[in-house]
Amino acid sequence: MTVRAGTPLEEVQNRAHELGLDYPVDIGARGTATIGGTIATNAGGIRVLRYGMTRQQVLGLEVVLPDGEVLTQMAGMVKDNSGYDLKQIFIGSEGTLGVICRAVLQLKPYHPNNALSLVALRDHEAALQCLSSLRERFDTALIAFEGMWPDYWHLVCREAEIARSPIEGAHGFYALLEIQLRLDETSDALEAWLLDALELDLVQDGVLAQSIAEQKDLWGIREAVGEIDDHLGPHINFDIGVSPSRLGDFCVEVERVLASIPDASRCVKVGHVGDGNLHLLVSHTLGCDTSMIEGAVYELVQRYCGAVTAEHGIGRVKVNWLPASRTKAERRLMASIKNCIDPCNLMNPGVILASKKFDTKSASK
Ligand SMILES: Cc1cc2nc3c(=O)[nH]c(=O)nc-3n(C[C@H](O)[C@H](O)[C@H](O)COP(=O)(O)OP(=O)(O)OC[C@H]3O[C@@H](n4cnc5c(N)ncnc54)[C@H](O)[C@@H]3O)c2cc1C
Repeated sequence: MTVRAGTPLEEVQNRAHELGLDYPVDIGARGTATIGGTIATNAGGIRVLRYGMTRQQVLGLEVVLPDGEVLTQMAGMVKDNSGYDLKQIFIGSEGTLGVICRAVLQLKPYHPNNALSLVALRDHEAALQCLSSLRERFDTALIAFEGMWPDYWHLVCREAEIARSPIEGAHGFYALLEIQLRLDETSDALEAWLLDALELDLVQDGVLAQSIAEQKDLWGIREAVGEIDDHLGPHINFDIGVSPSRLGDFCVEVERVLASIPDASRCVKVGHVGDGNLHLLVSHTLGCDTSMIEGAVYELVQRYCGAVTAEHGIGRVKVNWLPASRTKAERRLMASIKNCIDPCNLMNPGVILASKKFDTKSASK
């Protein structure tokens, strides 16, 4: 599909559906986010597990460069090894290298019917076991595996009552799992998996959505992350990436580290567990110096060889923390690319890379 950059993501999804196809990038901001914005931020979302990030969907781009020249790569080729794949530099560049005007997007077959289940688990380790069992049973039909820690669950379903919990009691972890169904399939296969998992004690409790309305209610628990700001008070919203198998250990350690910082009062965890992407929200004392909390969390991220941002990008807010994820050599090369394409620093100055005048020597310090 050839799309102008200002088109909202949801409009692209709807037009694809009319053709029996699907544009699989999906995020909470689908109604307002533009295709240009999602490409510039290499948006991820809830289906990365199955389809990858925005980068994997872009076959062509048209970009206006800072000097006014137009770079057009709109042939939509799947295979093209004629030198550097220049469009990749602009995907995820957060508007620092040029203005994206048009794109060619790769569409997938549309499967409007999905089966959705919410399960309660012993802990994060059990969630990983569940994930491998689902992959073994459903392979690529598993399109989402979202995790919620008890701190998040309690806030959303009990304290703030933003969503209603269909599962009784307290559990160590909650996961939302979605399976794509072909036209001739029903949710029976997921129900059978759930029964087996309960019998094997892999899952402690679980529900299967019986209607579209019930699916929306279950997704509402996960998407309530956009509504909890007021209940948390002043807080930092971390968007951390670590290897999925190490995410459980990371969470245990980050809680220990935060407990030793008097200004950090509360921590809430939710995320795209299958991708190792943790949204960690940490409340803090009003007006305190937050760099101590950020420093402690990012030092841990660095130790886990993780990413200071898995999908939201560096922007200006996380510029000082880039060294926790990118080596000196990487930062120097990034500054060189910025300098080469935008020598006058016209495009989103101060985003991703800090210095006002890009100088490759300062990036190496
Ligand atoms: C409620 C909510 C939920 C979200 N959930 C997710 C999620 O699950 N996963 C995820 O990855 N992200 C998520 N996001 C972030 C999301 O990816 C971005 O907000 C969105 O993709 C940006 O699109 P936009 O059109 O609003 O861009 P803007 O916010 O306007 O811009 C974002 C950046 O892209 C640049 N930019 C915008 N358009 C262009 C263009 N045409 N050419 C060059 N640069 C451009 C801007 O300069 C800016 O640096 C969420 C955001 C919200 C508000």
